[in-house]
Amino acid sequence: MRNSMTERTRPRRVPKRVRHDRETIEQILDEAHVAHLGITVDGCPHVIPTLHARLGDLVCFHGSAASRTMRALAAGVPACLTVTLIDGLVLARSAFHHSVNYRSAMIFGQATPVSDLDERRAALEALVERLIPGRSAEVRAPTERELRGTSILTMPLTEASAKIRSGPPLDDPDDYSLTSWAGVIPLTVCTGPPIPDPRLALDIRPSPVVSEWVSRRC
Ligand SMILES: Cc1cc2nc3c(=O)[nH]c(=O)nc-3n(C[C@H](O)[C@H](O)[C@H](O)COP(=O)(O)OP(=O)(O)OC[C@H]3O[C@@H](n4cnc5c(N)ncnc54)[C@H](O)[C@@H]3O)c2cc1C
Repeated sequence: MRNSMTERTRPRRVPKRVRHDRETIEQILDEAHVAHLGITVDGCPHVIPTLHARLGDLVCFHGSAASRTMRALAAGVPACLTVTLIDGLVLARSAFHHSVNYRSAMIFGQATPVSDLDERRAALEALVERLIPGRSAEVRAPTERELRGTSILTMPLTEASAKIRSGPPLDDPDDYSLTSWAGVIPLTVCTGPPIPDPRLALDIRPSPVVSEWVSRRC
């Protein structure tokens, strides 16, 4: 599926790196651990890091019902949510052409509060599953009080773009004869060995869901 390009998502700079197909946008959202929500409150730009999860055609996020950002979003301020994955450091032969390889996505729109309790439950579950798939089935489910005390919002993926840089540095033609090393240093997110909560009973071990996820990511 391809999102239609809007005036806001029409690329001006290096347009060949920008994509509007839903599959690319969803892959980036599904791999990123952190999103940044940009809104303007009282004339001042705010960019708030937050967890997110995708629910089909929506991206959801949550926060305290008392949060100023969540209240502004619920009131319908225009928002922009971005996620970024850094795939590598790009070391060029000139200082000027140093760069990074990345995949990023931007979603424009307005957030809608989720009021239905079952939908709120599904969104919270998606946020936990985004951390470790299978985890929500092994922990206590949220109570109605917890569900009501959390602000949960969604944004549609209808006005969105992705941008991807990959490959080696792009140096000026004359610089290819220089002797500085040039290339890409790949970067990935890795896990370390799980650190047990000091209050955990000694005989409780990480579940297969947790240990398999940890071993896959190393
Ligand atoms: C980790 C990282 C580091 C970067 N470092 C630099 C840097 O140092 N200098 C620099 O100039 N640029 C950098 N970029 C690229 C930067 O994000 C912008 O794409 C670029 O600066 C062009 O901005 P613009 O406002 O002129 O974009 P325009 O081309 O005017 O943007 C138009 C539309 O294109 C889409 N778009 C633009 N950029 C992105 C994006 N990154 N992801 C998804 N959609 C996008 C949006 O829909 C946007 O509204 C970096 C990107 C990432 C992810």
